[in-house]
Amino acid sequence: MQALKYARASSVDEAIKLLSDGGPNAKVLAGGTDIIVLARERRRKVELFVDIKHIDEAMQLTFDPGKGLIVGAATPLYKVYNDPNVVKHYTALAQSAHVIGGTAIQGRASLGGNLANSGPAGDSITAQMCLGGVAVIAGPNGRREVPIEDFCTGPGRNVLEANEFIVTLNFPAPVAHSASAWERFIPRNEMDIAVANSGVYLEMDGNTVVKARIALGAVGPKVFVVPVDSLVGKPLTDETIAAAGAAAKATATPIDDMRGSIKQRLHLSDILTQRTIRAAAERARA
Ligand SMILES: Cc1cc2nc3c(=O)[nH]c(=O)nc-3n(C[C@H](O)[C@H](O)[C@H](O)COP(=O)(O)OP(=O)(O)OC[C@H]3O[C@@H](n4cnc5c(N)ncnc54)[C@H](O)[C@@H]3O)c2cc1C
Repeated sequence: MQALKYARASSVDEAIKLLSDGGPNAKVLAGGTDIIVLARERRRKVELFVDIKHIDEAMQLTFDPGKGLIVGAATPLYKVYNDPNVVKHYTALAQSAHVIGGTAIQGRASLGGNLANSGPAGDSITAQMCLGGVAVIAGPNGRREVPIEDFCTGPGRNVLEANEFIVTLNFPAPVAHSASAWERFIPRNEMDIAVANSGVYLEMDGNTVVKARIALGAVGPKVFVVPVDSLVGKPLTDETIAAAGAAAKATATPIDDMRGSIKQRLHLSDILTQRTIRAAAERARA
C-alpha cells in the first residue's frame, strides 16, 4: 500500500475544496471496494482519499411518488436493495445492487462508485441507464446534471471533470403500468464479473409498448442503450420481443476475453434482452 492521507468531508463544498487542494492524486472514496484495492496494488496513484460517506446528501435514499427516487451516490447497496420502494418501482436497480460482490461488499459499495468506475460490465450501470437516471454532479463550477446514458465515455472513462464528484443519482417518478427488470450472466453463481448484463424499462398500455429503454453491458467498450424501434408502439408478441433481441445483438460489439467469447456474448445480448423484456412486461401488466 502506498502512503496516503485521509480526509473526511462533511459537506459537498468541503469535499470539492479537499479535492481541489489535494491535486490530481486526491481521489473520492465512497465504499472503497474498488479504489482501495487499486491503491493497495499501486495500480492507481493516490495521495489523498476524500471520504464522501459523511455527507448527508450523498448518503440519502429518498422516495416521493410524485417526484421520484434520489439515491445518494455513496449510499451503500444493501440500503438500496432493501428499500421497499426501490424494489417495487425501480426493480432493476434493486436486482443489480443485490448481486454486486457479496454481503460484505454490499455493506460498503455504492451506486456512485459503480458508475464512476465506468467499467463496461458495471452491473448497476445498465439498471441506472434503463431507468432513465440522472447523475447530479458537483464541482468547483457549481452543479450540473448528466443523464446516465451520457455519463460513460469509454472503458473506465466518463464525463467527470477535475475535482467533480457525483452527489446523487436521481430517477423519474414511477408511471402507471411501467416496470423494469435486470439480469446478468456469470459463469459462477456469485462474485464474478458479468459476461453480459441487461436492464429493461417498459411502459405498457394493455399489451402495447408505449415506452421502452434497454441497456446492455459487458458487450461493448461501455454500457450502452439499444434502439427500441422494434418495440415502441407495437404489441408485445414473440415476434416483437425477438426483434428487440436481434436489435440488441446487432448493436453489441463485444470482445473475446477470459470470461466469454464474442459468439457467446452476442448470443447473450439477444437472450438476456428477451428475458428482461418478458420479466418487465409481466410486472408492468400486474
Ligand atoms: C470482491 C469484489 C466483488 C465485486 N463484484 C462486483 C460485481 O459483481 N459487479 C460490479 O459491477 N462490480 C463489482 N465489484 C466492483 C466494486 O465493488 C463496485 O464497482 C462498487 O459499486 C464500487 O463502489 P464503491 O463505493 O466501493 O467505490 P469506490 O471504491 O469508493 O470508488 C470507485 C471509483 O469511483 C470513484 N468514486 C466513488 N464514488 C464517487 C462519486 N460519488 N463521484 C465521483 N467519483 C466517485 C473513486 O474515486 C474510485 O475511482 C466488486 C469488487 C470486489 C472487491
